[in-house]
Amino acid sequence: MAVFVCRVCGYHYDEDEGDEESGVPPKTEFYDLPWMWKCPNCGAFKEDFEELAEEEKEEESYFP
Ligand SMILES: [Zn+2]
Repeated sequence: MAVFVCRVCGYHYDEDEGDEESGVPPKTEFYDLPWMWKCPNCGAFKEDFEELAEEEKEEESYFP
């Protein structure tokens, strides 16, 4: 599952873990979070989060 990072403070929201402190169970997709959900660390809104690239995918399998 995806990880989203707060652009304000760098907090990571991991969909596998949820945010139990805020009552969000594990396996909750970021887009399914309540609209009023905010970063538990700094209070930023969801729109201040961006998806973290899983891994920088190298194009080693790409042959022109
Ligand atoms: Zn934050």
